[in-house]
Amino acid sequence: MSPVTPLLSHRCANTCELCSAENASAAFAVSPKNNDQIENEVALCDTCFRALNETEKGDHWQCLAGSVYNENPSVQALSYRILHQYKNEEWAAELLQSIELDEAVVNWAMSAFEQQEVHRDANGNELQNGDNVVLTQVLNVKGANFMAPKGTIVKRIKLVPDNPEQIEGKVNEQTIVILTKYVRKG
Ligand SMILES: [Zn+2]
Repeated sequence: MSPVTPLLSHRCANTCELCSAENASAAFAVSPKNNDQIENEVALCDTCFRALNETEKGDHWQCLAGSVYNENPSVQALSYRILHQYKNEEWAAELLQSIELDEAVVNWAMSAFEQQEVHRDANGNELQNGDNVVLTQVLNVKGANFMAPKGTIVKRIKLVPDNPEQIEGKVNEQTIVILTKYVRKG
Protein backbone atom coordinates (compact mmCIF):
# COMPACT_ATOMS: atom_id res chain seq x y z
CA MET A 1 0.00 0.00 0.00
CA SER A 2 1.26 3.47 -0.88
CA PRO A 3 0.09 6.92 0.15
CA VAL A 4 -2.24 8.74 -2.19
CA THR A 5 -0.16 11.02 -4.41
CA PRO A 6 -1.43 14.50 -5.34
CA LEU A 7 -2.13 13.26 -8.88
CA LEU A 8 -4.24 10.38 -7.67
CA SER A 9 -5.93 12.55 -5.08
CA HIS A 10 -6.89 14.92 -7.87
CA ARG A 11 -8.30 12.09 -9.99
CA CYS A 12 -10.48 10.74 -7.20
CA ALA A 13 -11.30 14.11 -5.61
CA ASN A 14 -9.97 12.55 -2.41
CA THR A 15 -12.84 10.06 -2.26
CA CYS A 16 -12.58 6.28 -2.23
CA GLU A 17 -12.90 5.07 -5.81
CA LEU A 18 -14.83 1.99 -4.76
CA CYS A 19 -17.31 3.20 -2.15
CA SER A 20 -17.08 7.03 -2.49
CA ALA A 21 -16.24 7.55 1.18
CA GLU A 22 -14.59 10.91 1.63
CA ASN A 23 -11.26 9.79 2.90
CA ALA A 24 -9.13 8.02 0.33
CA SER A 25 -6.09 7.00 2.35
CA ALA A 26 -4.34 4.30 0.32
CA ALA A 27 -3.14 4.00 -3.25
CA PHE A 28 -3.71 0.36 -4.04
CA ALA A 29 -1.88 -1.06 -7.06
CA VAL A 30 -3.91 -3.66 -8.91
CA SER A 31 -1.59 -6.67 -9.34
CA PRO A 32 0.40 -7.68 -11.32
CA LYS A 33 1.08 -4.00 -11.88
CA ASN A 34 2.67 -1.79 -9.24
CA ASN A 35 2.55 1.75 -7.96
CA ASP A 36 4.74 3.25 -10.67
CA GLN A 37 1.85 5.12 -12.28
CA ILE A 38 -1.62 6.13 -11.15
CA GLU A 39 -3.17 4.25 -14.09
CA ASN A 40 -2.34 1.11 -12.09
CA GLU A 41 -3.77 2.42 -8.84
CA VAL A 42 -7.09 2.69 -7.08
CA ALA A 43 -7.60 5.19 -4.26
CA LEU A 44 -9.14 3.38 -1.32
CA CYS A 45 -10.59 4.29 2.06
CA ASP A 46 -9.53 2.33 5.14
CA THR A 47 -12.72 0.29 5.12
CA CYS A 48 -12.29 -0.87 1.52
CA PHE A 49 -8.60 -1.52 2.04
CA ARG A 50 -9.30 -3.77 5.02
CA ALA A 51 -12.23 -5.49 3.30
CA LEU A 52 -9.95 -6.54 0.43
CA ASN A 53 -8.34 -9.09 2.71
CA GLU A 54 -11.54 -10.30 4.30
CA THR A 55 -14.33 -12.57 3.20
CA GLU A 56 -18.07 -12.17 3.71
CA LYS A 57 -17.97 -8.45 3.03
CA GLY A 58 -20.79 -8.74 0.53
CA ASP A 59 -22.79 -5.99 2.21
CA HIS A 60 -20.01 -3.48 1.88
CA TRP A 61 -19.19 -4.46 -1.70
CA GLN A 62 -22.60 -3.51 -3.02
CA CYS A 63 -20.77 -0.28 -3.89
CA LEU A 64 -19.05 -2.11 -6.71
CA ALA A 65 -22.23 -1.83 -8.76
CA GLY A 66 -21.18 1.78 -9.20
CA SER A 67 -17.40 1.60 -9.19
CA VAL A 68 -17.24 -1.05 -11.90
CA TYR A 69 -18.41 1.71 -14.27
CA ASN A 70 -15.69 4.13 -13.15
CA GLU A 71 -13.86 5.53 -16.17
CA ASN A 72 -10.47 4.28 -14.97
CA PRO A 73 -9.53 0.73 -16.05
CA SER A 74 -7.72 0.11 -12.75
CA VAL A 75 -10.93 0.77 -10.81
CA GLN A 76 -12.94 -1.37 -13.22
CA ALA A 77 -10.42 -4.22 -12.93
CA LEU A 78 -10.32 -4.17 -9.13
CA SER A 79 -14.12 -3.97 -8.90
CA TYR A 80 -14.49 -6.90 -11.31
CA ARG A 81 -11.89 -8.89 -9.40
CA ILE A 82 -13.67 -8.43 -6.08
CA LEU A 83 -17.02 -9.24 -7.64
CA HIS A 84 -15.54 -12.45 -8.98
CA GLN A 85 -14.57 -13.42 -5.43
CA TYR A 86 -18.25 -13.15 -4.50
CA LYS A 87 -19.57 -14.82 -7.65
CA ASN A 88 -21.44 -17.41 -5.61
CA GLU A 89 -23.67 -14.69 -4.21
CA GLU A 90 -26.62 -13.79 -6.36
CA TRP A 91 -26.11 -10.02 -6.40
CA ALA A 92 -22.52 -10.38 -7.57
CA ALA A 93 -23.35 -13.04 -10.16
CA GLU A 94 -26.06 -10.83 -11.63
CA LEU A 95 -23.76 -7.86 -11.76
CA LEU A 96 -20.99 -9.85 -13.42
CA GLN A 97 -23.41 -10.98 -16.11
CA SER A 98 -24.62 -7.50 -16.88
CA ILE A 99 -21.22 -5.76 -17.02
CA GLU A 100 -19.54 -5.12 -20.32
CA LEU A 101 -15.88 -4.25 -19.94
CA ASP A 102 -12.92 -4.27 -22.30
CA GLU A 103 -11.37 -7.68 -22.62
CA ALA A 104 -8.05 -6.23 -21.44
CA VAL A 105 -9.69 -5.07 -18.21
CA VAL A 106 -11.33 -8.45 -17.61
CA ASN A 107 -8.01 -10.20 -18.25
CA TRP A 108 -6.33 -7.84 -15.82
CA ALA A 109 -8.98 -8.59 -13.20
CA MET A 110 -8.84 -12.34 -13.74
CA SER A 111 -5.04 -12.57 -13.74
CA ALA A 112 -5.26 -12.82 -9.96
CA PHE A 113 -6.97 -16.22 -10.25
CA GLU A 114 -4.59 -17.85 -12.71
CA GLN A 115 -2.36 -20.42 -11.16
CA GLN A 116 1.22 -20.36 -12.22
CA GLU A 117 2.19 -23.88 -13.18
CA VAL A 118 5.94 -23.79 -12.78
CA HIS A 119 8.14 -26.89 -12.74
CA ARG A 120 10.73 -26.62 -9.97
CA ASP A 121 13.62 -28.86 -8.98
CA ALA A 122 14.50 -30.08 -5.48
CA ASN A 123 16.11 -26.72 -4.72
CA GLY A 124 13.16 -24.70 -5.93
CA ASN A 125 14.84 -23.61 -9.16
CA GLU A 126 12.64 -23.30 -12.20
CA LEU A 127 13.03 -26.03 -14.82
CA GLN A 128 12.69 -25.52 -18.56
CA ASN A 129 12.32 -27.81 -21.52
CA GLY A 130 15.78 -28.88 -22.68
CA ASP A 131 17.48 -28.50 -19.28
CA ASN A 132 19.93 -31.10 -18.03
CA VAL A 133 19.24 -32.39 -14.54
CA VAL A 134 20.92 -34.66 -11.99
CA LEU A 135 19.08 -37.27 -9.96
CA THR A 136 19.27 -36.43 -6.26
CA GLN A 137 18.45 -39.96 -5.20
CA VAL A 138 18.34 -43.49 -6.53
CA LEU A 139 15.53 -43.92 -8.97
CA ASN A 140 13.85 -47.28 -9.11
CA VAL A 141 12.34 -47.40 -12.57
CA LYS A 142 9.32 -49.60 -12.31
CA GLY A 143 8.43 -51.59 -15.35
CA ALA A 144 11.85 -51.11 -16.88
CA ASN A 145 13.57 -53.10 -14.17
CA PHE A 146 16.61 -50.99 -13.49
CA MET A 147 17.91 -48.57 -10.94
CA ALA A 148 19.29 -45.22 -11.92
CA PRO A 149 21.91 -44.23 -9.33
CA LYS A 150 21.95 -40.92 -7.55
CA GLY A 151 23.98 -38.47 -9.60
CA THR A 152 22.78 -39.79 -12.96
CA ILE A 153 22.62 -36.98 -15.48
CA VAL A 154 19.43 -36.74 -17.48
CA LYS A 155 19.86 -34.60 -20.55
CA ARG A 156 17.34 -32.44 -22.34
CA ILE A 157 14.32 -33.06 -20.15
CA LYS A 158 10.77 -32.39 -21.26
CA LEU A 159 8.28 -30.79 -18.88
CA VAL A 160 5.06 -32.74 -18.48
CA PRO A 161 2.28 -30.29 -19.35
CA ASP A 162 -0.44 -29.84 -16.75
CA ASN A 163 1.65 -31.51 -14.07
CA PRO A 164 4.31 -29.30 -12.53
CA GLU A 165 5.55 -32.24 -10.44
CA GLN A 166 6.69 -34.34 -13.38
CA ILE A 167 9.29 -34.23 -16.12
CA GLU A 168 10.26 -36.73 -18.79
CA GLY A 169 13.81 -37.71 -19.59
CA LYS A 170 15.93 -40.47 -21.03
CA VAL A 171 17.74 -42.84 -18.70
CA ASN A 172 19.37 -45.99 -20.12
CA GLU A 173 17.94 -45.06 -23.52
CA GLN A 174 14.43 -45.19 -22.12
CA THR A 175 12.14 -42.25 -21.71
CA ILE A 176 10.77 -42.23 -18.20
CA VAL A 177 8.74 -39.91 -16.02
CA ILE A 178 10.67 -38.44 -13.11
CA LEU A 179 9.36 -36.42 -10.18
CA THR A 180 10.78 -32.92 -10.13
CA LYS A 181 11.47 -33.18 -6.39
CA TYR A 182 14.09 -35.86 -7.10
CA VAL A 183 16.20 -33.81 -9.49
CA ARG A 184 18.27 -30.69 -9.47
CA LYS A 185 19.46 -28.61 -12.36
CA GLY A 186 22.76 -29.90 -13.71
ZN1 LIG B 1 -14.09 2.72 0.22
